[in-house]
Amino acid sequence: MTTRIFNHRRLLLLLSLLLSAGFFATTLFGYFVSKDAIRSAIIGQDLPLTSSNIYSEIQKDLVRPVLISSTMAHDTFLRDWVLKGERDVGAMAQYLGEVKKRHAAFSSFFVSEKTGHYYTGEGILKHVSASEPRDAWYHRVRDMKQDYEINVDPDLANKDALTIFINYRVFDFDGNYIGATGIGLTVDAVRHLIASYQQRFNRTIYFVDASGHIVLFGNQPGREADLHKAQGIGAQLDTILREKAGSYQFVANGDNHVLNVNYLSELNWYLFVEQNEDAALAGIRQTLYANLAISLVVTLLVIFLTHIALGRYQFRIEEMASKDKLTGLLNRHACSIILDRLLAAYRRTPKPISILLADVDHFKEINDRHGHRVGDQVLSGIARQIRGSIRESDVAVRWGGEEFLIILQACDQTEAEHLAEKLRASVAECIPDPTDPDIRITVSIGVSQFDGAESLDQTIDRADAALYSAKQSGRNLVCTAAAHAA
Ligand code: GH3
Ligand code: MG
Ligand code: MG
Repeated sequence: MTTRIFNHRRLLLLLSLLLSAGFFATTLFGYFVSKDAIRSAIIGQDLPLTSSNIYSEIQKDLVRPVLISSTMAHDTFLRDWVLKGERDVGAMAQYLGEVKKRHAAFSSFFVSEKTGHYYTGEGILKHVSASEPRDAWYHRVRDMKQDYEINVDPDLANKDALTIFINYRVFDFDGNYIGATGIGLTVDAVRHLIASYQQRFNRTIYFVDASGHIVLFGNQPGREADLHKAQGIGAQLDTILREKAGSYQFVANGDNHVLNVNYLSELNWYLFVEQNEDAALAGIRQTLYANLAISLVVTLLVIFLTHIALGRYQFRIEEMASKDKLTGLLNRHACSIILDRLLAAYRRTPKPISILLADVDHFKEINDRHGHRVGDQVLSGIARQIRGSIRESDVAVRWGGEEFLIILQACDQTEAEHLAEKLRASVAECIPDPTDPDIRITVSIGVSQFDGAESLDQTIDRADAALYSAKQSGRNLVCTAAAHAA
């Protein structure tokens, strides 16, 4: 018997939709808010801060050497010494050695235009030659227009460590070019600083010259040396170099990158600080997935528990609505649904259906003499006896106050008469109240078989008529109905 009090499945569906939508919306909202916060922190604070830290470090490490080299290029002693014929090599070596020591540089030098001598703190290191590729820098400096250049090169005087040279052009008092001087320092300090920033914040940091080439980096930046050819940045590079400073965004290898650029006018270099935004957001993306998984589990758990609670609730309600409280048999309301179903089953496969209608004899007297409590006890005792004598497929109904209807499936009239007789006899033999063995109960039973043409209500009516006959014939009897008069 499945009369649905409410649509269980639709309720669950609605509940899961509401829960998932709620969870999904709050989780995604949280994700986008944090994503925005992280992004603006990267663009507004993290990258500019990194950039300015490195900038000031670079200034310390590079700008000071430019000033020192400038001082050397304008030094009266140096220029006099050249003009006087470069005679006392020891004096020059002492001068260069002093500069190197005082400023903790890795090398200091002077190259004379006239003699081609390369002087260091130790004396003459070598002779600069036009055919030597390693000396190309000198000829470049000699021909350049600006006062000085900054050049990153392996240093011969410094075990070929990668060194930044400040190459300053030197003029005599009449403005004639007489050579190049300056100091060199290893870039390791700067390089370590950059590398530590890269490692700690997962940022890519490098310097770019005015032509758009990478000149100095901590670790390999994974970009083309010529940034014009680099994915993502390349297209914006001219704008970046023109604007000199700002924040930019580009996509490379499918990832979103943010870029902060600062121009170092002293070096004519650009400091690029770059962050892979997608990598930076990996943490909160993982939180998003975890939140979604938790939401899913909670939703499933709520749905599961609701399903169980609803199932129990529904079962109870259906039981309450269909069962008689005193006897535990089906009530008359539930019976009508069963009758419809039986009729439908009969139409598919016609198997005999028989009806018994039993009524307790002189029940009023039982009530009057022994009280309602005993009357109730008698009724539930009879219900127990009925349940014990029918099959699983048969249906027993409390039809009225002390009347019981029994529907027997796949059972013809003869079998039904037998069963009715057995029930009658067992009720008659039973002592319903052990404290008062004098109380004896009998039932009268009417029997009918569904003829296939009538309605089941008519079959019941015929059983009722047979019951009436049994009462008329003296009670404690089984009577069979006459055939349906069409
Ligand atoms: P008959 O042999 O002609 O059937 O006699 P009867 O006394 O059984 O006749 P009737 O059908 O008039 O009486 C039925 C009585 O059953 C009346 C009513 O008070 C009583 N009754 C109905 N339902 C209950 C119930 O749930 N508990 C009790 N204790 N009595 C009930
Ligand atoms: Mg009655
Ligand atoms: Mg009666």
